[in-house]
Amino acid sequence: MKQFFLVVFIIQAVISVAQSKEGVVNKLLLSNISVISMKNNKILENQDVKIQNGKIISIKKSKKLKEKDFLFFDGSGKYIMPSLADAHVHFPASELEMEQVLKLNLINGVTKLRSMRGEWQHTEWRKKFNTPDGFYPKLYLSPPTITRNDDLTKEQIESFVKKAKENKFDFIKILSLKSAATFTNLDVACKKYKMVIGGHFPVVTAGDKVSDKTIFNSNYRAFEYLGGLAGESVEMITDRIELLKRNNITICPTLSWYDIGSGRNSISELKDLRGMEFVSKTKMNDWIASTIEYRDKIGDEAYKSEVIREMKRAEDKYKIIKQLDQAGVNMILSPDASSKYMITGFNVLGEMELVKNANISNYSILKMATLISQSFLTKTLEQLKLERLLILLF
Ligand SMILES: [Zn+2]
Repeated sequence: MKQFFLVVFIIQAVISVAQSKEGVVNKLLLSNISVISMKNNKILENQDVKIQNGKIISIKKSKKLKEKDFLFFDGSGKYIMPSLADAHVHFPASELEMEQVLKLNLINGVTKLRSMRGEWQHTEWRKKFNTPDGFYPKLYLSPPTITRNDDLTKEQIESFVKKAKENKFDFIKILSLKSAATFTNLDVACKKYKMVIGGHFPVVTAGDKVSDKTIFNSNYRAFEYLGGLAGESVEMITDRIELLKRNNITICPTLSWYDIGSGRNSISELKDLRGMEFVSKTKMNDWIASTIEYRDKIGDEAYKSEVIREMKRAEDKYKIIKQLDQAGVNMILSPDASSKYMITGFNVLGEMELVKNANISNYSILKMATLISQSFLTKTLEQLKLERLLILLF
């Protein structure tokens, strides 16, 4: 896994070399570098990669020589691969903090972010940060999240979805639902306006449940946290994995948030987690104080059994991820870096290490963070239109 992180360093190194010498570099030669193309699970070693005007123009066996007009970068011992995506991000409240989020992701090689705590004004941020020649991560947006507190009429739901479509949001996020009727109305509106739904596996707080038939025939295209799978019976898991595969629905497991919450780390381990040097001293002290207070309050015995329980849950999730991988269900990757001791960008790398506990290949994990995310984020809508067409044809 260490190899992955070298990639990040090369991105940083190339950017700094490029900036220091020429201002803007149009021609760059990465000499004698290893290429992880993601076309297959092979690494192409000792390659020369030529980049012109921001595009790779050739990848050839390395001559280890400088070339006229090309800025030379010695890539010996380094790797290059497609950039990463974080498929579950909670944007901060202010634009200033948002710019920090974008920078922290960029230095970790993360260039695509899917927003899971939407606000209407996020389209303004997209305009500002995703300019044609900008280098900040690309934003994929949802409007304000639907929750169980939203007691909406059919008309209100339709105008919400219509507004989201008109403002070019990418999908609707569901956190929780008031009732099965809310879900049905939302799905009808999403089908009408060709909007994708993503978020938690739909569980209603009161009244009739939403049936699996309704859920798997809806515009849901991704479920978070292994919801609808983790904690369910073996039969239910097998059936739903089959439905996920058949309906081309993507899973975003988000292990890191639960891993931090499991309490398995000692205080000094928490302080040393990846990226913590970017957290202010005051914030870190607050986090530590609240962790110590909580652990003292519940007592040593309860604390230890809580960790054991959480570790058991994690083991169950790893088994499910293995099953999903074997069944060929598309998975995308995110740490859901929204709690204490987590920092956006850095946790994407930690999430890859956690997914490795599911005993799936490095190639599968990299696919989650690159190819599958890319296709999920850029093609879900097109895919949806195509499916509609197929339904019409049959
Ligand atoms: Zn979240």
